Amino acid sequence: MFDQQRSKAGQRSINMFKGNEEGGWDLEDLELPPEVETPRVNARSSVFVAPTPGMPVNQIWTQRSSLAADHAAAGNFDTAMRLLSRQLGIRNFAPLKSMFLDLHTGSHSYLRAFSSAPVVSLAVERGWSESASPNVRGPPALVFNFSQLDEKLKAGYKGTTDGKFTEALRLFLSILHTIPLIVVESRREVDEVKELIIIAKEYVLGLQMELKRRELKDNPVRQQEFAAYFTHCNLQMPHLRLALRNAMTICFKAKNLATAANFARRLLETNPNENHSKAARQVLQSSERNMTDASQLNYDFRNPFVTCGATYVPIYRGQKDVSCPSCTTRFVPTQEGQLCTICVLAVIGADASVEALRSIGKILGKTNWNFDIDPCSRGNSWLDQPTDYYANNVTCDCSFNNNTICHVIHLLERIRSDEVALNAMETESQRAVLGSSNFMPNGL
Ligand SMILES: [Zn+2]
Repeated sequence: MFDQQRSKAGQRSINMFKGNEEGGWDLEDLELPPEVETPRVNARSSVFVAPTPGMPVNQIWTQRSSLAADHAAAGNFDTAMRLLSRQLGIRNFAPLKSMFLDLHTGSHSYLRAFSSAPVVSLAVERGWSESASPNVRGPPALVFNFSQLDEKLKAGYKGTTDGKFTEALRLFLSILHTIPLIVVESRREVDEVKELIIIAKEYVLGLQMELKRRELKDNPVRQQEFAAYFTHCNLQMPHLRLALRNAMTICFKAKNLATAANFARRLLETNPNENHSKAARQVLQSSERNMTDASQLNYDFRNPFVTCGATYVPIYRGQKDVSCPSCTTRFVPTQEGQLCTICVLAVIGADASVEALRSIGKILGKTNWNFDIDPCSRGNSWLDQPTDYYANNVTCDCSFNNNTICHVIHLLERIRSDEVALNAMETESQRAVLGSSNFMPNGL
C-alpha cells in the first residue's frame, strides 16, 4: 500500500515539472524502467532475506560414500540395499532392518527450540572435533563398531563353553549380520574383520550341526558324522577339545573304533586335562585290539575337507564347490542360487565382485589365479607385471576410502580393450565389476 502511494506521488511530481521547468532545453521524455518504482533502500531495510539453502547433509553423505552403512545412516535405505546387493550378493534384508533403523536414528539428533517452532534435525558426524571447519561435512556417526563385535565374540565363546548353543548361535549370527554395516579405517582392521567372518561362520556351521545332531536320536550314523564334522570347524582350543571328546564318545559307543581312536589321538595332541586324557587313552587301548568300524560313515579324516553349509556333507579337496559372497561359507554346487543357510543374507554363488572376477578369469582362460590368496596381497599369481604382452595380473588400488576399498585397475584396462572378452561377459554384475564397483566392498 505504502509503495503504491509513494510511486503515484512520484509520478505526479514528474508530470508537474514537465512543461513548467523545461524551458528551452527541449528535453526528451524520460521513459523510466519499472525498477525505478521498486522500494528505495530505506523503505524496509529490516526485511530478512533468508540465505540460499545448502545441500541437505543426508545427500552429502550418500554422494560421498559407497558404503552401505553411510547410506543407511542418511536414511537412503534403497541405495544401501542396492550397494549390499551389488557388493556382497545380499538379497535377504529382513535381518538387517532393525540395524538400518538404528544407523539412521543414531546419526541424527533433534532440537526443539520453541514449542511453536518446528523441530530441527541435526546430523551427527563421525570423528567430529572442535577444530573441524563448520563448512565441511564429515561422514555420519555410526552406531556399530568393531569393538562391539569383539564383545559379542567373547559372549559367543562363553555361550559355547557353557553349552548354551542356541544363545551362542544367535550371537555369532548377529556378528555376521553386523559386519556388512561396519566401516573400518585401516588395512589392519580390514584383516581383523576378515578373520572375524571366518571365525563366526565356522561357529555358526558347527553349532548348527551340533543342535541338529541332538535332534537326530534315531540316526546313529548321521549323529556320528555331525559330531565328526564339528571337530573340523575352526574352533578355539577349549571348544575343539570338547568337540573331540564328544565325537570320540559317540563313535566309541557306536562301535566305530577306528574312527573313535582317531579322535582320541587328536584329543591327546591338544594337551587335555587329566580326566579327558585318561578317557582318550582308554579308548585308544580298547580300539587297538580291534581297529574296525561297525558302520560306514561319510567321513575320511585323512583327506582334508570343508563341510557344506546346507547339506552337511564333506567337500573334499579338489571337489567343486560354490561359496556365499557375504560370509564365504562353501557349499556343494547344487546349492547355487539358494539363500545361504549360514548368514541367511546372500545368495550362494551370487556374482559379487570376487565371484565375478573368478568367472572373468575363466572366460579369459586364466588358470593360475589363486583365489585362496587375497588378490590385494599381490602375492603369488596376483603379482603386478604390467607389460603389454603379459596380462596375467590383477592390480588393485587399495587406497580408496582410507584404504578400506579397492578397485581393480590394470585388469580392467586390458579387458576394456579386449572386445571378445567383453562380449563374452555373461551377466550384468560381471560388467559392473568392469565399471566402478568395489572389488572388495567394505574392505572385504
Ligand atoms: Zn553366507
